[in-house]
Amino acid sequence: MTRKSFETFYYLKDQSVHNVQIIQNEYKNKNGNILLYKGYIRCPECKTAELSFTHKTSLRKAFLSKLPTSEHAEGCSYIHNYASNKKLKDFVGNMNNEKIRERLESALNRLYRSQDTLSLNNQNNNEKNPFILRTNTSTKIMHNCIPRKSLNGWLDREDEGNVYIFYGEVKLKVEEIIRRNSTVSEKPIYKLIIRTYRKKEDQWIDKTNIYRNTIKDDIDENAIYQIAIFGHIEFYKEYPQIKSENLYSIFFREKA
Ligand SMILES: [Zn+2]
Repeated sequence: MTRKSFETFYYLKDQSVHNVQIIQNEYKNKNGNILLYKGYIRCPECKTAELSFTHKTSLRKAFLSKLPTSEHAEGCSYIHNYASNKKLKDFVGNMNNEKIRERLESALNRLYRSQDTLSLNNQNNNEKNPFILRTNTSTKIMHNCIPRKSLNGWLDREDEGNVYIFYGEVKLKVEEIIRRNSTVSEKPIYKLIIRTYRKKEDQWIDKTNIYRNTIKDDIDENAIYQIAIFGHIEFYKEYPQIKSENLYSIFFREKA
């Protein structure tokens, strides 16, 4: 992802958030005609700043960026520059497990809120926006945007190593990792398989997984969960895996 670009957008016509992929599909199917979307794409967070679409080429994927003439609403995390990987890692490293969990839970509340549950007042409060990272130096307070990535979108090689809050509505499955040369005394270790819904096949498919060490999460395989993870992607052969920054930088709840 090019820094300061968007992979999701708020669509004025149906008043919901979508992945840029659907505009790319329209672009492809209609030979470059995206009138359906043009003028109706807004910032996924503040719904105010107007975005423009840049189509995919052989060298880069499609993305959205803010029109220079348009501004984010006050309190939108996208006003600020993205936090660097180092800053994000320090941030998670210095937070206790409970604080990380709270941050991820409030990220989910913000991403999946219904239109009326969050008052504008609340929305515009810098301190309460879970996507704003605040750091104090001796002379000033700095604000940065925490990059986010939908598990329903792309997980690409070019994103490898970058720290995000990954999020999505997913199905989960716990699987034991079979160790080579394992001794009887060792505790079993697990991974959490993340499955996302693919419209084309009308199926839930394995998208990625997360190493959980000896934690065996209590999962209902048929339930749909909302999940948020502070982590980065690493590729094993062609398969993307999410490494959570630590074993507790993950939060999920059953979708209501
Ligand atoms: Zn915005």
